[in-house]
Amino acid sequence: MKDWKKFALAASLVLAATAVKAEEKFITIGTGGQTGVYFIVGQSICKLVNRGTSTHNIKCTAPSTGGSIANINAIKAGDQDMGVAQSDWQFHALNGTSKFEETGAFPELRSVFSVHPEPFTVVARADSGINTFDDLKGKRVNISNPGSGARGTMEVLMGVKGWAMSDFALASELKSAEQAQALCDNKVDAIVFTVGHPSGTIQEATTSCESKIISVEGAEIDKLIADNPYYSAASVPGGMYTGTDSDVNTFGVRATFVSSTKADEETIYQVVKAVFDNFDRFKGLHPAFANLKEEEMITAGVSAPVHDGAARYFKERGLIK
Ligand code: GLU
Repeated sequence: MKDWKKFALAASLVLAATAVKAEEKFITIGTGGQTGVYFIVGQSICKLVNRGTSTHNIKCTAPSTGGSIANINAIKAGDQDMGVAQSDWQFHALNGTSKFEETGAFPELRSVFSVHPEPFTVVARADSGINTFDDLKGKRVNISNPGSGARGTMEVLMGVKGWAMSDFALASELKSAEQAQALCDNKVDAIVFTVGHPSGTIQEATTSCESKIISVEGAEIDKLIADNPYYSAASVPGGMYTGTDSDVNTFGVRATFVSSTKADEETIYQVVKAVFDNFDRFKGLHPAFANLKEEEMITAGVSAPVHDGAARYFKERGLIK
C-alpha cells in the first residue's frame, strides 16, 4: 500500500473511532449509602448495562448518595439520570406533597420499575431499655441524614406520634453507612433505616454489639397503612439477624427505580432490557432481590407514570398491554 493510502486509512480509522466515542452515552444512577441495598441495586443495574456497552454504547455508573429524596432532587435538577427511591417519596415528589410541598409537584417524574420491599427498621442496643417504638422518646436516636428516605419516613412517624426533635435526648443525623458503628460505640441508643433485608447496615449493627430489632406497630401504624397506598404491613424475618429470633412487625415501602421525561426512551429501554433479559442473574446479585417477580416490579409501589422506554420493553415482552 502506498504511503498516502496508509495515511488515509489510518486517518479514517481514527475518525471512525472518534465517531463511536462521540456517541457514547454516560448515565448516572443515584443510590444510597455503601452498606445499604440501594447501592447494590445501582451497581447491579450498571453491571448488566455495561455488559452490553459494545452494542448500545451506554456506560453506567452508580455512585453512593444520600438516598431517596436526594436522588429525586438530583433527577429533577438534571444531575442524575435515574435513581432509587422509596415508594412513599416517589408519590410525594410526583404530587408535591409532604416533604415536597415546598418544591412543588414534579409531573415529569417517571417510574421505571420497582425493586425489593423495604420494612421500616429500628435497631436498639440491648442495654437501652427500648422495647417498643414509643420507647424511643427521650433516648439518643439516629434519625438519619437529611436527603434519605429513611429520615423522611421517620419524620412522618414523629408527626404521627406528635414528637419534636427535642423529644429525643439526642437526635443525630448520621448517614446510613455510619450509624451501625455509632450504635455499637454507644453514641446512640437506636438507629432507624428503611431498607431491604438482609442489609449490610443491619448486619453490622446486630453483630458488632448486642442489639435487637424493635417492632413498629399499633393503631396509628394501622391507620398510616390504611390511609396511604404506598405503605403496607411488613416484617423483618426472625433468625435473619443475631439477637432477633422471631419475626418483627413493622410497616414498609417499596424500593423503586425512577427517572424523568428528560431521559430518552432508547436509553431507558436499554437499561430495562439489560435487567429483565438477565433477570435470574440480577436476582442473584443480592439476597434482597431473591423473591422479585417481574409482574410485581411493574406495579408495586408505582405512582408516577411508567417511562416510555420501560413501557416499550414491557409491551414487547407482553408484560403490559
Ligand atoms: N430507603 C433508604 C433511603 O432512601 C435507602 C436504603 C438503602 O440504602 O438500601 O434512605
